[in-house]
Amino acid sequence: MVKIGVLGLQGAVREHVHSIEQAGAEAIVIKRKEQLAEIDGLIIPGGESTTMRRLIDKYDFMDVLKQFADQGKPMFGTCAGLILLAKQIVGYEKPHIGVMDITVERNSFGRQRESFEADLEIAGAAADFPAVFIRAPHIVEAGENVEVLAKHNGRIVAAREGQFLGCSFHPELTDDHRLTEYFIKMVKEAKEKQFV
Ligand code: GLN
Repeated sequence: MVKIGVLGLQGAVREHVHSIEQAGAEAIVIKRKEQLAEIDGLIIPGGESTTMRRLIDKYDFMDVLKQFADQGKPMFGTCAGLILLAKQIVGYEKPHIGVMDITVERNSFGRQRESFEADLEIAGAAADFPAVFIRAPHIVEAGENVEVLAKHNGRIVAAREGQFLGCSFHPELTDDHRLTEYFIKMVKEAKEKQFV
């Protein structure tokens, strides 16, 4: 069985743990950087990207997160987690972890629509996924190796680049675990490759 970590510094951590377990994998909350060595894939949850960044620096996580990506291990960023993975953030000079070839814009669905739900078709994962958006970012631009998995009102809200998966919404807040299952499959495939 693969082990999936959820970065446990801030945000919707518990809900991801539940979703991973429902999808049939083992979940570990990551609170110390040494724990990254124990896991096969990592979910960076939604929350507040600036707060999470502050805690990443405070607990000295930045280098180990980059090393984790360098090892080819899968990472899944949801909402604020997507912002942390992006190589570019509109209005910011520097990215955070900066490993996925996308440009994101924060809080980009407008004040009137702070949170909403929409049914999405997510390529390879679900035809009708109930997506919960909360002060969500969207992907403004995606590099040539990035596969767009879902759009909402013409805006990219889910994408994959090899080992990296990201979405604007909170897939862990409903009982639909298909996107988590999609990530677990990515993790299994990456793990199998390591042993070939
Ligand atoms: N607006 C938050 C940010 O910019 C993200 C919101 C979320 O993760 N639900 O970090």
